[in-house]
Amino acid sequence: MLDDMFDYVENIRERPVWQPIPDAIRNGAHGRLPHESSDLASVHDAFMQTILPYSAGNVHPGFMGWVQGGGTPVGMLAEMVSAGLNANLGGRDQMPIEIEHQVAGWMRDLFGFPKSATGIFVTGTSMANLVGVLVARTAACGIAVRRTGVNLQERRLVSYASAGAHSSISQALEIAGLGSDSLRLVPTNDRFEMDLCTLERLIEEDRRAGFEPFLILGTAGSVDVGAIDDLAAIADVAAREHLWFHVDGAFGALGMLAPEIAPRLTGIERADSLAFDFHKWGQVPYDAGFVLVRDGALHRRTFASSSAYLTRANRAMNAGSPWPCDFGPDLSRSFRALKTWFTFMVYGSDRIGAAIARTCSLAQYMKQEIEANSELELLAPVALNIVCFRFQIDDRVEAMSSQGASYSDAVNAEICALIQESGIAAPSTTIIRGRLAIRAAIVNHRTASEDVDALLAAVVQFGRSRVALLRKTS
Ligand SMILES: *Cc1c(COP(=O)(O)O)cnc(C)c1O
Repeated sequence: MLDDMFDYVENIRERPVWQPIPDAIRNGAHGRLPHESSDLASVHDAFMQTILPYSAGNVHPGFMGWVQGGGTPVGMLAEMVSAGLNANLGGRDQMPIEIEHQVAGWMRDLFGFPKSATGIFVTGTSMANLVGVLVARTAACGIAVRRTGVNLQERRLVSYASAGAHSSISQALEIAGLGSDSLRLVPTNDRFEMDLCTLERLIEEDRRAGFEPFLILGTAGSVDVGAIDDLAAIADVAAREHLWFHVDGAFGALGMLAPEIAPRLTGIERADSLAFDFHKWGQVPYDAGFVLVRDGALHRRTFASSSAYLTRANRAMNAGSPWPCDFGPDLSRSFRALKTWFTFMVYGSDRIGAAIARTCSLAQYMKQEIEANSELELLAPVALNIVCFRFQIDDRVEAMSSQGASYSDAVNAEICALIQESGIAAPSTTIIRGRLAIRAAIVNHRTASEDVDALLAAVVQFGRSRVALLRKTS
């Protein structure tokens, strides 16, 4: 099994990035609960034939959809020993928890947080954003809110994030009982960063209307275009207005590891809470999200509870309190810290930072190739590793179709689907200022300029053939 996975990673370029699942294989996964045992080799064979070839393909260097990490062989081996150890990191006095503390310490130092800050692994940034929102809620309402719940009639709490903020933020407000209506989406400037004049105006208007601003959520690396909000300026506003400052740095925060990128994250060290993922730019296998909270005592008071079966003591296995289960909603927790620890120990943070910087250089290369090609159009500035562009269709061709301007959107959506189906590359799409964009997020450390070339060539090829088809039929 191990050899097969080494071969998979080593020869990944020989495979399509993604391929459709044949009906027979999909239906084969709809069988009944097996009552009888089978031998491991035959089940492994089923895995090799029916599962491995049909995953989304984010290990592949041509995978540039959404924002997904590529993993490493070191991370894979760490997952193996971690599963063998089968540690449960909810609590108790054990070295695996010390390793989680070690990673938290590294992150405190990297992001300039004080020693009193706490950090824990969670599934991903979606969960880390929720933890940040919940601690901010405790800061605003006191810990009594855990018993009483939020009384929305008395407290009209509102928060602010950029219009480019990730959807997990409004979802976090829904889950926290504050409601997504309480989130003000602040328009962005021409670099797709939160517009700070509007932010200040909205805060003032809300206060005058009787609302209670309590939280600003900055974004370090927006999911659509990779924009970094002006974190230092947001920190100033938050300090002046006495608001909690949370940063969603899902992929962007680890840009701190690259000397070329780190200065652009200035202000992140002033966040009250910071959410990010090791499984994106950090290349740790899924899943490995993390949240850092400046006020560790408040973090603990937001989640800790006492139960007889989780008694703490100064000796034996009940020592080592507080435990990770005191800092988040999970009790049983996997050893996510181990694959992260192995990744940093084996590769070193400089090398991970260099891989991050390289994805940004590749994005700049891609931007230049797009700007030099009259058949392609860049749709957003390239701040980090994300490029939004499309196949350009001239007005006369659009007029030939019955759809007018939306013809370009339809063709570009189809180009993206055709490329995914071809297995050449895996871009995704988004909407930029009302127009559909093909979006390439270069996150995988394996991606090289040849993969960028292959994607652009495929866009031009499929774009031309769609337009030729239109000309023939009209
Ligand atoms: C990926 C991403 C998230 C969500 O993180 P998950 O790890 O997928 O839960 C949140 N915010 C941004 C900016 C992201 O890129």
